[in-house]
Amino acid sequence: MSYLRTKGIVIKETNTGEADRIVTIFSNSKGKISAAAKGSKRPKSRLAAGTQLLCYSDFILFKGSDIYSINTCDIIEPFYELRNDIVRLTHAAHITDIINDVIQENQPSPRVLQLYLNTLYILSKTQKSPELVTRIFELRLLSMLGYAPYVNGCIQCGSENLDGISFSFQKCGFVCGRCKPSDESAMEISTGTAKALYYIVHANIGDLFKFGTSPEVLRELGIINRRYLRERLEHDYTKLDFLRSINL
Ligand SMILES: [Zn+2]
Repeated sequence: MSYLRTKGIVIKETNTGEADRIVTIFSNSKGKISAAAKGSKRPKSRLAAGTQLLCYSDFILFKGSDIYSINTCDIIEPFYELRNDIVRLTHAAHITDIINDVIQENQPSPRVLQLYLNTLYILSKTQKSPELVTRIFELRLLSMLGYAPYVNGCIQCGSENLDGISFSFQKCGFVCGRCKPSDESAMEISTGTAKALYYIVHANIGDLFKFGTSPEVLRELGIINRRYLRERLEHDYTKLDFLRSINL
């Protein structure tokens, strides 16, 4: 039997019995890991707190014949604040859905883990608009996965003039006013949205969340990201529709 010590955050849980669960951990050292948390549903279990969804902990895991089994977990950051706020929790659930789809077993993704933890931190500990935080996460994640849109100028003719700029879903980047008529997939965007897209793709990770936007820019970012996510990851993420349906 071998053991593994790793930091990680629980991104999914499945009940497997009266007292047991299997949790999916986004780990620092091995990417996605499935691990049995035996007895963790019992209130007095020493695993009960640290194996909850969205809990970031230091784990010691044992590898049996098939999957890992959690021996101990020491909580580093439980993100408790998310659990008391339906809007922030729904945004966290949405970004966690995306994370579940893009990370793989035995593929450490430390930069993606850092982005995910930073995003949860801003969502839970600050008053920043959850909508904007989620838009930043989505686009930066896609960029890290190799789907960064071209935002340095017009992808067709190279013009850096932002007047009349559009976002082309077909070409994955900006097209200028002169090139737009030849691209049916292009959506006209404001200069503010163009600047926000540029910032999200290029900012240092430490500065990523340090900007604000107008409601109009936020609305355009929402339309762009939803379609861009759907086309790149081939999945329509719908958890946030619930918030829209109750006007939150
Ligand atoms: Zn052009």
